[in-house]
Amino acid sequence: MLPGPKAKRLLKLDKRYISPSCARPYPAVIERGRGCYVWDVDGNRFLDFVAGIAVVATGHCHPEIVKVIREQSKRLIHISGTDFYYEVQVALAEKLAEIVPGSPNRKVFFTNSGTEAIECAMKLARFKRRRPYFISFKNSFHGRTYGSLSLTASKSIQRQGFGPFLPGVFHAPYGYCYRCSFNLSYPECDYACLRFLEEEILKKSAPAEDVAAIFVEPIQGEGGYIVPPPGYFQVLKKICERYDILLVCDEIQSGMGRTGRMFGIEHWSVIPDIVCVAKGIASGLPLGATIARSSMMDWPPGSHASTFGGNPIACACGLKTIELLEGGLIENAKVQGDYLLGLLKELQDRYEVIGDVRGKGLMVGVELVLDRIKKTPTTSKRDGVVYECFQRGLLCLGAGKTTVRFSPPLTVGKKEIDKAVAIFEEALKKVFRIS
Ligand code: PLP
Repeated sequence: MLPGPKAKRLLKLDKRYISPSCARPYPAVIERGRGCYVWDVDGNRFLDFVAGIAVVATGHCHPEIVKVIREQSKRLIHISGTDFYYEVQVALAEKLAEIVPGSPNRKVFFTNSGTEAIECAMKLARFKRRRPYFISFKNSFHGRTYGSLSLTASKSIQRQGFGPFLPGVFHAPYGYCYRCSFNLSYPECDYACLRFLEEEILKKSAPAEDVAAIFVEPIQGEGGYIVPPPGYFQVLKKICERYDILLVCDEIQSGMGRTGRMFGIEHWSVIPDIVCVAKGIASGLPLGATIARSSMMDWPPGSHASTFGGNPIACACGLKTIELLEGGLIENAKVQGDYLLGLLKELQDRYEVIGDVRGKGLMVGVELVLDRIKKTPTTSKRDGVVYECFQRGLLCLGAGKTTVRFSPPLTVGKKEIDKAVAIFEEALKKVFRIS
């Protein structure tokens, strides 16, 4: 039974000294990691299908990443791109500008995190368009600083007590077909959610001429690993073009190879105006980036900067991470992701409590329900399944109200996937009392 004795001691200290605002789903006190596995302080091994919330794309402590950290830290640890130039930052920007949809002619602003990348995009969009409003989507998660939190509409606890938010943010229904806001089905719906955005929001409450940008996750992460239908982003892009609104893709969770393409939006072949990345970009080092058309990123010196953003060690890891992604990990995410999705769909055929299985690459969600017809959500049982997985040696997380998400390192193999799915099935049977 977990936690073990050493973990218990640390949990006590954590309770004494760490802000309780983080919602840890189970008492995992991790000491070290390697590839797809982590070990806790009591020596228990776990198969990690969280990857530091979709961050350690190359697996824990990839030897080549460790080598890069060692070498770069001997040369230069910090200098600040706010005031100085350094090669590794330019090299990573050049690479990102080359691989981002819509390349070339892209420029990059480096940050330390996802939320800062979103803040940068919000400021840039307003600066360029000189329009006050933003649109984002229900269930979206863009971060927890005031600008990004104003866009976020995933869970009320994330906003409760923190208002008022940035004025001029409007939330539209997302392409969440399993729980369509209009009770319609794709393709007969003819994108009713996007028609609502145009007809009801842009024409009635947020005048299109006053909207600077629409922020969207190509696949919603925290909101429940929700994949919009085919054609969705092409329609959204057309709306943006009609009113000269900027399309900002938040690729913070879906980017950097996770979905089997370098960027999630590539599945829809749409070119955004601004792309935000973070999480998987540097294999665990804190780094984010906002990438925009060069003609757009022409704000004057002093208008935006960050002391730590684009840290040399993080940038060096970013370059190595992209090399490893292009060297086979993106392809592996696709192959193993299809395999994982297939196994989970087989489980769905057998267990009524699995309402939906969806995802792309290694961004896979399983939505649990109490009743398949009514699609009754069950947060408590979902949390129970996540907890029972932990007790059996598998780390996974919830997403949205009633979904279990799987986001393993992109180095994962069939053997680990078989094991993870077997543990998930056991946990499911235990929590839902299925014999
Ligand atoms: N955007 C998306 C899609 C995310 O998933 C997250 C984090 O989960 C963020 C933004 C915020 O990133 P960070 O926690 O690095 O600020």
